Amino acid sequence: MQLLALRAQFPALEQTLDGYPLCYLDTAATSQKPQSVLDAMADFYRYDNANVHRAAHQLSARSTAKYEAVRDKVQAFVNAQRREEIIFTHGTTEAINQVAWGLNQKLDSNSVILVDTAAHHANIVPWQQLAQRTGAKVIAIPLADDGRIDQQAYQALVAQSPSIVAINHVSNVLGTVNPVQAMVAQAKAAGALTLVDGAQAVAHKRVDMQEIDCDFYVFSGHKMYGPTGVGILYGRYQQLDTLTPLLTGGEMIEQVSFDGTSFNTLPNRLEAGTPAIAEVIGLGAAIDYIANLPQAATQKREAELVNYLQTQLQQLGGITLYAAHNDNCGAVAFNLNGEHHQDVGILLDQQGVAIRCGHHCAMPLMHSLQISGCCRASIGVYTSHEDIDRFIEALSSVKAMLID
Ligand code: PLP
Repeated sequence: MQLLALRAQFPALEQTLDGYPLCYLDTAATSQKPQSVLDAMADFYRYDNANVHRAAHQLSARSTAKYEAVRDKVQAFVNAQRREEIIFTHGTTEAINQVAWGLNQKLDSNSVILVDTAAHHANIVPWQQLAQRTGAKVIAIPLADDGRIDQQAYQALVAQSPSIVAINHVSNVLGTVNPVQAMVAQAKAAGALTLVDGAQAVAHKRVDMQEIDCDFYVFSGHKMYGPTGVGILYGRYQQLDTLTPLLTGGEMIEQVSFDGTSFNTLPNRLEAGTPAIAEVIGLGAAIDYIANLPQAATQKREAELVNYLQTQLQQLGGITLYAAHNDNCGAVAFNLNGEHHQDVGILLDQQGVAIRCGHHCAMPLMHSLQISGCCRASIGVYTSHEDIDRFIEALSSVKAMLID
């Protein structure tokens, strides 16, 4: 499909801001949504709206069938062994909190949790909280000078027999890609449980749970052309089955009396309360959308766009790029030398260019780079070379205004 036709499927892209056509380079924060996702959610509310798993009536049966069909879709999307290994959450953050809470009983003051220095706060703070509850120790896996995980240091840390290793698949700031398969294998050989944060990977790469072989893999719907309010916790059945539920109440029980309560089996055990039904259905449409893209061609085009972004920024001059490698995925981090990232972002916005500025929920990474924040331009399936040219042109005028 031509890029123009593909872009036409994303209604939010067809707008102007202060007279400028929108140039959306903030997909890593949240992607725009194709019409098929909007329609799937609207149709659900228009025709099927009913709670799942509960009522005897037809609307509920339809709603339940659609909701559960998405579980099958996600299972196929990530190549999980069993549909019960797919838990619907409200996003990556909740998924990691569920895992960290669920491991309360498994850690003690001798336990070590290794966490990627470049991790999003969602993949740091829940582990710190778990450490506070159990007396365990959180150790940051350091980055090498090139902004990637220092693999030698990682191996030395893994030799300390950690209980948990929590890493990015793709960094939300730098776009660097961790060799997750090899890192998981090393962690497993040392007896650790592994969690891979795939929030920035799933929109750009096909992920295969049998290949990566981690215990937990988490991601959010809204970064993969789906709605906000829904995410996935994939877990190996045996691991999920022994997690203490973060939320308790309706849906997740088998028997309740004032003498005690027994819990349901997976996946219900970890899905307390009314789920985000319309959002799950929207996520199903987003998975269909991704599955229908020509995979190899899309990945190649996105890789070219990231490289184009990197070289155009380099050629502009007066820019510091962070951890810019050929095989980075989805995002480019930079600063305009001597200028505050926030000023750059605001001035770009005045020309219709949307990028993200700040610490990107990755303060430890900022500390490691010795900066307070940076700008990030990120791409999606709808990003064009013209978007990047417009961004560079706008940045060039910002540079002229602030520096030249
Ligand atoms: N992990 C990574 C790598 C992210 O990029 C994000 C969001 O930016 C999150 C976790 C948190 O995702 P959510 O806010 O959807 O829970």
